[in-house]
Amino acid sequence: MTGSPATRTPPAAAAVHEHGWLVESAHRTSEGIVQYVRCADCGVRRVDVAAVPAVVPGAVSRELG
Ligand SMILES: [Zn+2]
Repeated sequence: MTGSPATRTPPAAAAVHEHGWLVESAHRTSEGIVQYVRCADCGVRRVDVAAVPAVVPGAVSRELG
C-alpha cells in the first residue's frame, strides 16, 4: 500500500481553470470586432479584438473574348 495523505491534489478552485467565456456584447469597430466576454464560472472579464477579415476584392478575373 502506498497511499499517502501528503500527495493530495489542491482544490481545483485555487488552480487556473479553463474559463468558459460568454460573450456579453460585441461591437464592430474600424480596428476589428471588439468582444466583451465574461467567464461564467469565476466572473473574470476579458476584451477580445478580432481582426476584420480582409475586404473581399472585386472580380479578380473576367472572361476575355
Ligand atoms: Zn474562469
